[in-house]
Amino acid sequence: MERVTSHPASQGLFDRARQVSPGGVNSPVRAFRAVGGTPIFMRSGSGAWLTDVDGNRYVDLVGSWGPMLLGHAHPEVLAAVAEAVGRGTSFGTPSEPEVLLAEEIVGRTPVESVRLVSSGTEATMSAIRLARGFTGRDKIVKFAGCYHGHVDALLAEAGSGVVTLGLPETPGVPAHVTADTIVLPYNDRAAVEAAFEQYGDQIACLITEAAAGNMGVVPPEPGFNRFLAETCRKHGALFISDEVMTGFRVTRSGHWGLDGEPEGWRPDLLTFGKVMGGGFPAAAFGGRRDVMEQLAPVGPVYQAGTLSGNPIATTAGLTTLRLADTEAYARLDDASAQLQRLVAEALDAAGVTYALQSAGNMFSVFWGVDKPVTDFAGAQAQEAWRYRPFFHAMLDAGVYLPPSAYECWFVSAAHDSEALSRIAEALPAAARAAA
Ligand code: PLP
Repeated sequence: MERVTSHPASQGLFDRARQVSPGGVNSPVRAFRAVGGTPIFMRSGSGAWLTDVDGNRYVDLVGSWGPMLLGHAHPEVLAAVAEAVGRGTSFGTPSEPEVLLAEEIVGRTPVESVRLVSSGTEATMSAIRLARGFTGRDKIVKFAGCYHGHVDALLAEAGSGVVTLGLPETPGVPAHVTADTIVLPYNDRAAVEAAFEQYGDQIACLITEAAAGNMGVVPPEPGFNRFLAETCRKHGALFISDEVMTGFRVTRSGHWGLDGEPEGWRPDLLTFGKVMGGGFPAAAFGGRRDVMEQLAPVGPVYQAGTLSGNPIATTAGLTTLRLADTEAYARLDDASAQLQRLVAEALDAAGVTYALQSAGNMFSVFWGVDKPVTDFAGAQAQEAWRYRPFFHAMLDAGVYLPPSAYECWFVSAAHDSEALSRIAEALPAAARAAA
């Protein structure tokens, strides 16, 4: 098996980066704080593979943290982007790709009207402002372990990098900003009922990840999202489904495609990001037309962005979504299922106790637990230290995993048999290292 153990160029760049940037990274999840070692600096990507600045090749299971649904450097996405760049990079006026992307989103999801922004954080921040403006109420409800970006009011018991780094709360967020944030245990209907019983007429919205993916993957129990939507409706609050991670990934219409029922319910607002930007900064929030029309310039709730709907980002996103057809999702689902089988076989053979959990094609492993994880307390009870030797054994064998036990593993439609074989070769020794 090809070994990858030498990273002098990455080390050199990291040493320089630390001199000029905090921790040498521009997003904390890229640091190797939880797993130790030097972050790998990537130079290029193609399909399921990444090549680092030392020339080492890896099968990529991070996928830029979600966006790379089709794999890296898809030739049709690159061609569309190159063509768009040739026409100019930003106009600050409406442009055609924005309309096409918005139509694509409206066509695939329960959204009637959508506004484009540049990051998932902006999407959730704006959706919450809109919900507060629409309802005239201040309180919001979120779940422990869910991450909705680094929005001040939502950085309470948050997942993703916040839990990886073990930060209980974030300095810089004044107490009064989170005073109106109610944090509940995920999948806990009784806690939701009790909170709405007590504060129902003050709650503007409840926001949840459509399936939690930022404390590891913790799927909603059957009917949970519908229950949340109905509870919100009963109390005049809005239900916001955060599909930044699941959107256009777990099905062509996101988690809604797994959750939705023909004549049932729909979220009042949804947020999107990652896949819909095709590797560029594009995100969105949208939903009920009467709610969305409270936004300026129609209504009084202000929200804006210099680069919102940027023609290059929207072209990349639109091309990605158009290429993400039934066949692409079938390939992705199949690769994910095969990979989950390989992981389970290797961990079983090594005698590791684990829970492998999935929401559609998204999945992650909880280490040292012997029952399903349903909430943040369960996720934090795992033996996350087992991930460190596993991660490094996989890295040395040419498989790039998220550098945290609390993150989802992202597969792409480009993960073919060659990529899966590399992973299959790497897994047995890595599993033994975690035992
Ligand atoms: N919401 C969810 C569910 C996410 O997973 C993320 C990012 O991981 C965000 C929001 C924030 O998105 P961004 O990092 O683009 O600001």
